[in-house]
Amino acid sequence: MASPPSPGLPCPRCGHHIATSLELLLANRPFYCSGCGLQITLDREKSKGALDALRTLRAGLEEAEEMRRRGPV
Ligand SMILES: [Zn+2]
Repeated sequence: MASPPSPGLPCPRCGHHIATSLELLLANRPFYCSGCGLQITLDREKSKGALDALRTLRAGLEEAEEMRRRGPV
């Protein structure tokens, strides 16, 4: 099974992987590319689908974490 990708997205300008947290994205906070310094702000309206997907992803991650805490099956 492949490990889940680290949260983040490729920079649209330089392609550098910008690490960001789901909380940061869901809070609609701007974040910066550590490669070129580009500021990225998610447009809440335009990103509605993406934000919904992130919420689903976070719920899945929490569920996985919960299962991990319970120990091996
Ligand atoms: Zn960049």
